[in-house]
Amino acid sequence: MEEAKRIVILTHTNPDGDAIGSSLALALALKKKGKDAQVIIPDGLPDFLRWLPGIELSTTFAYKKEKAIGIIESADILFCLDFNDPKRLNSVEEYLSRSTAKKILIDHHEDPVDFADVSVSETWRGSVGEMIYLFLKEIFDDDVMDKDIASCLYVAIMTDTGNFTYASSYPEIFHVVGDLMKYDLEKDRIYSNVYDAFSDDRMRLLGYCMQNKMVVLPKYHTAYISISDEELNRFNHRKGDTEGFVNVPFSVNGVKFTALFVEKKEVVRVSFRSRGDFPVNKVATDHYNGGGHINAAGGDSLLSLKDTLSHFESLLPGYESFLSDI
Ligand code: 5GP
Ligand code: MN
Repeated sequence: MEEAKRIVILTHTNPDGDAIGSSLALALALKKKGKDAQVIIPDGLPDFLRWLPGIELSTTFAYKKEKAIGIIESADILFCLDFNDPKRLNSVEEYLSRSTAKKILIDHHEDPVDFADVSVSETWRGSVGEMIYLFLKEIFDDDVMDKDIASCLYVAIMTDTGNFTYASSYPEIFHVVGDLMKYDLEKDRIYSNVYDAFSDDRMRLLGYCMQNKMVVLPKYHTAYISISDEELNRFNHRKGDTEGFVNVPFSVNGVKFTALFVEKKEVVRVSFRSRGDFPVNKVATDHYNGGGHINAAGGDSLLSLKDTLSHFESLLPGYESFLSDI
């Protein structure tokens, strides 16, 4: 890293708060240390992350392809953050594999693919944001941290733990947050920037889904929501609008497994969440060509939306022993 001039950070498609927050924090810190640091995002940035400090260091491949390719090709080091498989980069994958730069993976998903020169995989951590905090502490002196970097890291940690409602039951995460608080972190304003920044269309879509689209299956402690392309259009859907919908049915007493099915052009995007030890990443890997964590995973279905839902319901008896024990 001392020798490297240009450092490029790659993160996963459909980026979330951890992907963007940890990438921008690392980029800001590297820039402060005199490096040319850039972040490449495969596709669109949701609006609730646009306010983040350092966002100007990011380039979206889907919108500025030539520029993004140029940046990746000039890299001396490529950091890969918050994904365990180059497939999660979609079209950017080919430029990663073509690159001769040193590759460093920092991630918290299980079973990382062995593609990097250095892999730091800590699956028990709630977020990559926490790992970047520890990394920065280790490689730089304490003076690299500042309010902007702390804000990006806090967004990463806060969003990937559902505001500390999962993947965060260990002391160190609160030591990290405690330290971030020393940098004038405006934690409540950050919460509001992320969670109170939705359009009224999004709120109405959520209300519509709760009223008309949520299916609760008490026998399996399961609830799911499906949204068709037509429904997305009816509510003037913007990228990121359905973010968080999958968590809402947990408010129903007894629900321990939730799913969200969103119809896209070629596939149905599937999101799973669970409480307790039901491994939704196994469901995602076995049936949806996806992956993730024990309590949060995703994938795709190539069936129609209607067939996806009946197939999903047909899978539940197979998990009955697991789900009825909860
Ligand atoms: P989300 O439901 O928010 O899209 O994703 C939840 C978690 O599952 C995230 O940690 C994400 O990294 C992982 N995940 C989502 N979709 C996929 C996928 O298609 N493949 C893999 N391997 N992981 C996914
Ligand atoms: Mn993450």
